[in-house]
Amino acid sequence: LSDRLTQTFKNLRTKGKLTPADVDGTVREIRRALLDADVALEVVKEFTGKVRERALSDEVNKALNPAQQVVQIVNEELVAILGGQQRKLEFAKKPPTVIMLAGLQGAGKTTLAGKLAKWLKKEGHTPLLVASDLQRPNAVTQLQVVGEQAGVPVFAPEPGNGVGDPVKVAKNGVAEAERKQYDVVIVDTAGRLGIDAELMKQAANIRKAVDPDEVLFVVDALTGQDAVNTARAFQEGVDFTGVVLTKLDGDSRGGAALSVTSITGRPIIFASVGEGLDDFEPFHPDRMASRILDLGDILTLIEQAQQAFDEEEALKVAEKFRTDSFTLDDFLGQMQQLKKMGSLKGMLGMLPGARGMREQLDNFDEREITRTEAIIQSMTPAERQNTKLLNGSRRLRIAKGSGMTVTDVNQLVARFEQAAKMMKTVAKGGVPQVPGMGPI
Ligand code: GDP
Ligand code: MG
Repeated sequence: LSDRLTQTFKNLRTKGKLTPADVDGTVREIRRALLDADVALEVVKEFTGKVRERALSDEVNKALNPAQQVVQIVNEELVAILGGQQRKLEFAKKPPTVIMLAGLQGAGKTTLAGKLAKWLKKEGHTPLLVASDLQRPNAVTQLQVVGEQAGVPVFAPEPGNGVGDPVKVAKNGVAEAERKQYDVVIVDTAGRLGIDAELMKQAANIRKAVDPDEVLFVVDALTGQDAVNTARAFQEGVDFTGVVLTKLDGDSRGGAALSVTSITGRPIIFASVGEGLDDFEPFHPDRMASRILDLGDILTLIEQAQQAFDEEEALKVAEKFRTDSFTLDDFLGQMQQLKKMGSLKGMLGMLPGARGMREQLDNFDEREITRTEAIIQSMTPAERQNTKLLNGSRRLRIAKGSGMTVTDVNQLVARFEQAAKMMKTVAKGGVPQVPGMGPI
C-alpha cells in the first residue's frame, strides 16, 4: 500500500463525517494505489467512480466510522469485480468434461495442464492430457514430462491420430477419452509471443471441434497492463469461460486480476503460484482484493483507531495525572486496553502488511498484564483510590488473594506510584506516557 494511501486513511479515521473533499482525496489515493498495482487505467476509472458514488451516499454519512466504511466499500467493490464468490470448475453432465487451455506463449498453459491434471486426479478424477500444441518443437515432450510427474497419461500426436494438425489431435484425444473412459480431458494448445490472427483461428477451430465445457484463458499476472489487450483479443477470437492467473508468486500485486475480470466479465477460477505442480490453488476473490490493496495495512489502521488509546481517553487521563487523581483503577483500565490490543496479535499475523504493529505487540507480555490485573482486582476500592493505605498486612492479603507474592505487589505499587509522580509533571506538557505502557 502506498504511504500516501496509508496517510489518507490515517487522516480519515480521525474524522467524524466525510466531506466531498475528503472523499475525493481518498478516491485519488485509491486510484494511485490501483495504478501502482498495475490495474488498467480504464478499469481504475470505472472502479473509483463507483467507490466515490457510494462513499458520498447516505450509507457512509450515517456510518459510525466513515473511514472504515469507505475501506469496506473499496473492498466490497474489489471482491465484486473479482467475481464475488469463488467460481468452481464446471463438469459435464455426461463425461468426459473437456477443458481447453488458451493463452499466449509462456503464459504457463503447459505447466497448468500438469497442475490441473494432478489436482483433478487427487479429487478422484481420471484425467487425460492432450497435446495440441504442435507449434513449438518440444511442446509435446514438455507435456509428456508434466504428465509423467502428475501421473496422468498424455495423448500425443502419432501417425494415424492427426500428426501435424492440432485440431485433429484435439478431436482424437477426446475420442480416446470417451473410448477409454477418462472423465476429464485437458487440451493444451499453442500460443504465440504476441496476439496473431493465425493463432486465434487455430484456437477457435480447436474450440469448435471439441466443444469444451470450459475454455480457460491462461494469463501471466506479471504482464500487468498488457493483460487487458490479450484478454480482449482472446475473448473476441476464441472466447473463454474462465481465467487462470499464473505467476502470482512473482512480485506482481495482482492488478491484472482486476483488469481481466473487469474487462471480460469472466471469473478467475485458479491461481498458479510457482513452477512446481503443486503450486496451484482455486482462486479466492477476497484474498486477491486484500493483495491488491494490501488491505492488511488498512485494517491495522482501523483496529488502531478502534482499540488503541484514543485521543479523547488520553486527554482524560492527562487531566487525572495533572490533578493527581490517577488511580490504580485507571491504571487497570489502561492495562486492559493493552490486553485488547494484545489479543489482536494472532489476527494480525494473518494479514499482510501489518508487520510493524506485530513487532510492537510482541514486546509486551500478556501474562504480565494478567498478573497485574489479578493484583489490582484483589484490592478494595479504597485501596485502589489511595495506595497510601497499603500497609504490610493489606499487601499480604492482596498477595494471597491474587496468588502472587508480596514482592510482586510491592513492585506493582512502586511502579504505579513512580509512574503517577512522573506523569504528573509530564502531563502539564502533553500526552501521558506511563513507562512500558504508553500509547502504542
Ligand atoms: P506455455 O507456453 O503457456 O505452455 O507456458 P509454460 O507452461 O511452458 O510456462 C512458461 C514458463 O513459465 C515455464 O518456465 C514455467 O515453469 C513458468 N511458469 C508457469 N507457471 C508459473 C507460475 O505460476 N509461477 C512461476 N514462477 N513460473 C511459472
Ligand atoms: Mg505450452
